[in-house]
Amino acid sequence: MKNKSLLAAAAFTAVTLAPLTQAQEFLTIGTGGVTGVYYPAGGGMCRLINKDNSDHGIRCNVESTGGSVYNLNTLRAGELSLGVAQSDQQYDAYNGKGAFAKAGKYEDLRSVFSIYTEAFTVVARKDANIKTFDDLKGKRVNIGEPGSGQRATMEVLMDAKGWESSDFRLTSELKAAEQAQALCDNKIDVMVYFVGHPNGAIKEATTSCETNIVSVDDTTVKKLIEDTPYYVSYDVPGGMYRGNEQTVTTLGAKATVVASAKTSNETIYQAVKAVFDNFDTFRRLHPGFADIEKSDMLDGNTAPMHPGAAKYFKESGLL
Ligand code: GLU
Repeated sequence: MKNKSLLAAAAFTAVTLAPLTQAQEFLTIGTGGVTGVYYPAGGGMCRLINKDNSDHGIRCNVESTGGSVYNLNTLRAGELSLGVAQSDQQYDAYNGKGAFAKAGKYEDLRSVFSIYTEAFTVVARKDANIKTFDDLKGKRVNIGEPGSGQRATMEVLMDAKGWESSDFRLTSELKAAEQAQALCDNKIDVMVYFVGHPNGAIKEATTSCETNIVSVDDTTVKKLIEDTPYYVSYDVPGGMYRGNEQTVTTLGAKATVVASAKTSNETIYQAVKAVFDNFDTFRRLHPGFADIEKSDMLDGNTAPMHPGAAKYFKESGLL
């Protein structure tokens, strides 16, 4: 009798709780500033993942953050499930170099896929008369918020050049989304942003005041490209932004999606599947994504591939 009622109770629980036990798993993607490309890219990924929520129970949400270094550190702290990061910062985090020298090697870092190439973009006020990267000396430069990818790469470039902050007349640490206004309000002469094109921040700066995009392509930069597996030469096309008709050559790196080895294989598998099974929709998310190819999205990574991603790539013949 006792057993019977227990069974009945169990059956009742099973029936009434069934919809709830399609446990919802929350996935947070760390991105960047709202006028960059990481944020809309992460938002687009989440929409594709959430579309099939009733199949896999994963609920994705996107967080605007300070950028690459913040995302990698927060992933390591277990507070993010996925993050977007520049390939140079992925390399440095995995190997415990650069901005991650103090924290040491992040051995649990896993790569998921890369998306597009972003460009170290230097925008100067026209009246500051800055023609080359070396002309930044003596100027008011926003070197970027600590935690941002542009700040980390700016430090790499300054090191390579043998520059100190004192080589600039003023350095500021404004957030990515704040610097266009500071530039056009004449608070700084130069903003730097390691970002895909076109993007809201550079559009804002180039439409609000007279600017020129500065080439970052001298012998120091060429050597960095030669000596590292992640830097490439990149052309920001002329005519993309008001007042900037010339194509400008600068330093590039891939924007990559990273995860922790602790994030389950199933979660990563579903996240990758959502993007790759809906690839045409993904490519239409942003003008900078129009030309990306699935096969290129396995390049540019240093950290070992997450097994959940590898499973999808093997199934679909990409690996
Ligand atoms: N590359 C930048 C960073 O790592 C972010 C660019 C973006 O938000 O699109 O901080």
